[in-house]
Amino acid sequence: MRRPMVAGNWKMNGTRASVAELASSLCEQDVPDQVEVAVFPSTLHIDLVLAELTGRSIAVGAQDCAVEAGFGAFTGEVSASQLKDSGCGWVLVGHSERRLVLGESDEVVSQKFMAAQSCGLIPILCLGETLKQRQADQTLEVVGRQLAKVIDDAGIEAFGRAVVAYEPVWAIGTGLTATPAQAQEVHTAIRAQLAAADSLIAESVRLLYGGSVKAENAAELFGMPDIDGGLVGGASLKANEFGAICRAAGS
Ligand code: PGA
Repeated sequence: MRRPMVAGNWKMNGTRASVAELASSLCEQDVPDQVEVAVFPSTLHIDLVLAELTGRSIAVGAQDCAVEAGFGAFTGEVSASQLKDSGCGWVLVGHSERRLVLGESDEVVSQKFMAAQSCGLIPILCLGETLKQRQADQTLEVVGRQLAKVIDDAGIEAFGRAVVAYEPVWAIGTGLTATPAQAQEVHTAIRAQLAAADSLIAESVRLLYGGSVKAENAAELFGMPDIDGGLVGGASLKANEFGAICRAAGS
């Protein structure tokens, strides 16, 4: 049995005041114990959110980490060891906004994945195709290539300590959601690719769907056999909505 998970990616949003309020409202949400919940505030707000969530079963992660795991001359970067030291347990790697807007290659994403694990953080590896790639029928090829790079570099065993998120780029922040069947098709392919390397690990890895997940579509998506939860952007900024998504993952 894979434990369902819902992750809230707060992206570059909020002030200290609004983020503290969001975190404290989350504490009032009724979330079933079997659902693992993590939130990903801006790096600047990690301390604040950790303080608000003290004693709660909501984990905190970062939205990115440096390629270099330790310390050094990397102006503006934050390393996985610094995140771990600050109390983070998780980190997103390879979010499409970083791949496409900031030009992160499969190579860089793979290095970040390994840097995160080397410090004991659990990476959520984000994969996904653009609209153009979907229209050209390249979805499985693109997602397969993104995943293969990390399997090759980190080894299949590394997926025993990782989560994978399928996030079609055309569905992120657009209000367009992949249909449950479209998402399931890609999740099946991801799990099959992992299984080709190790079937036991493939069975245990949680595969999240991301891209305009909302309270109203969450249950249907999470009802698919290979969708083990969600990576939620916009809807995670509203405590009630996020709480409802978490409850959908537990039902
Ligand atoms: P969205 O973002 O839920 O706002 O579409 C998802 C994500 O980028 O992780």
